[in-house]
Amino acid sequence: QAPLSTVGTKTTCPYCGVGCGVRAAMQADGVIAVTGDELHPANKGRLCVKGSALGETVDLDGRLLHPKVRDADGALQRVSWDAALDKVAGGLRDIIDRHGPDSVALYVSGQLLTEDYYIANKLMKGYVGSANIDTNSRLCMSSAVAGHKRAFGEDLVPVSYEDLELADMVVLVGSNTAWCHPILFQRIAKAKENRPEMKLIVIDPRRTATCELADMHLPVKAGTDVWLFNGLMSFLAHRGARDNAFVDAHTSGLGEALAIADADCADPHEVARICKVDVNDLLAFYQLFADTEKVITGFSMGVNQSSAGTDKVNSIINCHLISGRIGKPGMGPFSITGQPNAMGGREVGGLANMLAAHMDLDNALHRDTVQTFWGSPHMADKPGLKAVDLFNAIEAGRIKAVWIMATNPMVSMPDANVVQRALSKCELVVASDIVEGTDTNAFAHVLLPALGWGEKDGTVTNSERRISRQRAFLTAPGEARPDWQIICDVAIRMGYRGFDFAGVHAVFDEHARLSSYRNGPPQIAGNSMRVFNLDGLTGMSKQQFDQLQPIQWPVTRDKHSGDVTGTARLFGNQRYAHADGKARFVATPPRGPAHLPDEEFPLTLNTGRVRDQWHTMTRTGKSARLADHVPESFIDMHPQDALRYGVREGSLARISSRWGAMVARVQHSGGIARGSVFVPIHWSNQTASDARVGALVNPVVDPLSGEPEFKHTPVSIEEF
Ligand code: SF4
Repeated sequence: QAPLSTVGTKTTCPYCGVGCGVRAAMQADGVIAVTGDELHPANKGRLCVKGSALGETVDLDGRLLHPKVRDADGALQRVSWDAALDKVAGGLRDIIDRHGPDSVALYVSGQLLTEDYYIANKLMKGYVGSANIDTNSRLCMSSAVAGHKRAFGEDLVPVSYEDLELADMVVLVGSNTAWCHPILFQRIAKAKENRPEMKLIVIDPRRTATCELADMHLPVKAGTDVWLFNGLMSFLAHRGARDNAFVDAHTSGLGEALAIADADCADPHEVARICKVDVNDLLAFYQLFADTEKVITGFSMGVNQSSAGTDKVNSIINCHLISGRIGKPGMGPFSITGQPNAMGGREVGGLANMLAAHMDLDNALHRDTVQTFWGSPHMADKPGLKAVDLFNAIEAGRIKAVWIMATNPMVSMPDANVVQRALSKCELVVASDIVEGTDTNAFAHVLLPALGWGEKDGTVTNSERRISRQRAFLTAPGEARPDWQIICDVAIRMGYRGFDFAGVHAVFDEHARLSSYRNGPPQIAGNSMRVFNLDGLTGMSKQQFDQLQPIQWPVTRDKHSGDVTGTARLFGNQRYAHADGKARFVATPPRGPAHLPDEEFPLTLNTGRVRDQWHTMTRTGKSARLADHVPESFIDMHPQDALRYGVREGSLARISSRWGAMVARVQHSGGIARGSVFVPIHWSNQTASDARVGALVNPVVDPLSGEPEFKHTPVSIEEF
């Protein structure tokens, strides 16, 4: 691959939601040097080991470089782009004509750039006329989205990374930040080094690397977070830490929410018993929270990936509302997103129940607004199927065509064997990918080669609402094309207008103009309160788009000077996006995980990431130094449980649930409580014997967000 530039290109790391800025340059020896961008506000020059190893992951080994179609014997044959696009467009058109728009689906990814995401949603929701488009972001942050919408009226993250450094106390819940968001953790560590009095509290069933810096670790029993935070809310309400002026002026719903919290969680001894934490530690945490004005509560997958995920999010937000700790420097609830562009996907309506520009599919006014703006023929008139239901519908034969982009659901979905059965019977499976040989792509009828990191152009939005450019510094390999372009080519072949863009900057401009349009016309009643706004980024030329500096939305432009301004912190004016302008307390009656351990499956499976791998390892798996950290999958468990169930450290064991089984090596990290096991999410059927932990995970989802319960599946274990 030839470099587009040898002097270094400023772009963004494609891994976690921290969204670090990087500089990438091809050296004379052909090696790609990657360094942190000192001027990017997210990381200020720092990079974690995954980001530093990016240059080792962009070779063409295993790349999908040409369109391919599976022949009658099941072999993939190289075809021209025209033939592949005709097959996809013709196949989708035929199935829609025979079975209606809801018989086709797209399953996309938080790895896509915002412009790819926007076009995919435009095609499905505005032209095909079905909202059966969901994303792997459903698996990581949809509970945070639902929680934000209930509390604030819109999916809004109140704080900036800078607030973590300004806080006097950072509470991390269900988040191994040290491994999963390393640069954020480094920022917290540096702030704590500068101000040793700053407190770090970690609430997590596991003793992770994040706990090494913590002043207190509460090893809460998995699934009991709502009890803990309802207890905190009750404590704050009755121990003098309630901000009455704030609550009266800027919130609604306290009465019901507090009554629910008081009913089960007013007694800290009872909460400590349920959460299995020391009551003195619990009371110490509650008192610290009550006494500390500047508190950030960061939460991640341990909160979101639960059948009560949305309530967990709201139980946390309730505590910030009752104490008035929001909208000011160094305080607020903070959803730490997993993927590089989970936030950008949310902005363009990437989830099956959302529309572009933070509008809702179940709101007729919003549907009209988007349809008018697009001038589109067939608007979806109801929310589509969320990820788990979407693959169930394929298995049931209701969805007959699926187009999967930049994700590997055969490995990452819960009850992943359903995905295998679904794809093996689906009439048309299309996969856009940079890699040819994944578990999922083995079932594709058509493979479309997409551009990867370093080759593609567009934008991503990180966890603090900061839009950054991803820029190409390598030429496109083989015949690979940008995802947005591939989708437009299919849409045009399906006979749709509105997909003829001059370049990726034009796609971004349409996305920005839609946010502006939504806020603009006074006839669009009820929209004046909405916060997501890219007014200041409309009308950019290609050159201006190329030079776009990282900026946090909402982005406004001064009418007189033309100056463009981003927004570091939301709710400084204490105006929320609900019609009454107030934030809402949400009553969160505590409930446990859907499936509890029993005699047959006595242990609780928890899943998550390891420090140096990303998702299903199609990229990080290429780097030898990243593989050195954890070379194979493992089952981490307590030594006494290992003794009890007859498995030895270092030996292979089979771990089974009602849904599936896998084999991995037993280890004792010392961080796992009795009764639990932890298995990483990364390994697949491609990297070992079938090591897909997703095959074991129960497919139970949160009733509001549809996010699966990855952190709590009953399992058994035996020597292999
Ligand atoms: Fe990339 Fe996340 Fe590491 Fe930053 S912290 S370099 S975004 S993986």
